[in-house]
Amino acid sequence: MKKETITSHKKPNITHSRIHYLWAINELSKTGDGVKAINVAKLLGVTRSAVSIALNNLKKQKLVVEKYPGHFLQLTHSGKKQLEKIDSNYLLLVDFLNNYLNLEKDIAEKQACLIEHLLLDEVAVKLSQLLAKNHHP
Ligand SMILES: [Zn+2]
Repeated sequence: MKKETITSHKKPNITHSRIHYLWAINELSKTGDGVKAINVAKLLGVTRSAVSIALNNLKKQKLVVEKYPGHFLQLTHSGKKQLEKIDSNYLLLVDFLNNYLNLEKDIAEKQACLIEHLLLDEVAVKLSQLLAKNHHP
């Protein structure tokens, strides 16, 4: 990569592990009970302090809010948007890797998980057009 490319390339605004926090909060909120940091830690298999560092960042980015009293966690509108986009990238990538590159499903899923948050919008659009065309000839 050229130096100009690096410096002109905007940093992704969310790191991969933070996406998994958004995902965990979203999953836990489906149970109907308030989502607590401790439940997020359990679901992701990380320490309580790792969760609190991640949550502080997510709150600063306005992707998560903490409701008082009770310290319940909620995704904000943009947190949900961010998660939806990455979820759809993930599914596109699994489809592509599994059906076009003929990789086994678990490898496809593993690889998709690693790069789901790195897809440029332009690439995701092209990928979804390609896959749609082939599923519905
Ligand atoms: Zn992932």
